[in-house]
Amino acid sequence: MGYYCRICRCSRPNERFSANGRRIHVCKICIKLPKEERRHIEESEEICGFFKQSNISEKNRKRLAVLAASSDAVIARAAKLAIEIATAHPSKRRRMKFLAAQRRDLLAELEETGLIVCLYNY
Ligand SMILES: [Zn+2]
Repeated sequence: MGYYCRICRCSRPNERFSANGRRIHVCKICIKLPKEERRHIEESEEICGFFKQSNISEKNRKRLAVLAASSDAVIARAAKLAIEIATAHPSKRRRMKFLAAQRRDLLAELEETGLIVCLYNY
């Protein structure tokens, strides 16, 4: 049993983590990634996580608004899309059905950005 790295999503043995890495759950390989790259992965995960929640709250939307202003264009686009979806259908329940029936435009953008995988249940 080792530790889980939240960047590469791998379980790695203890020695693959520095003391600081263990605390933040980032392995020795990923900790060397450029800061922007690491942040990109973390923020992508964060946005994805909002879709997995049973509801996207007002507080979540405020956080998404911050991400929507990111200088990282991919993150900004994903966050804007997440805000639109959160506004149209904040609840996870029946969201897919709703999008398929009424917001094909958002569904198409989810596919285009690859965020669609965040809406699958597994
Ligand atoms: Zn890693």
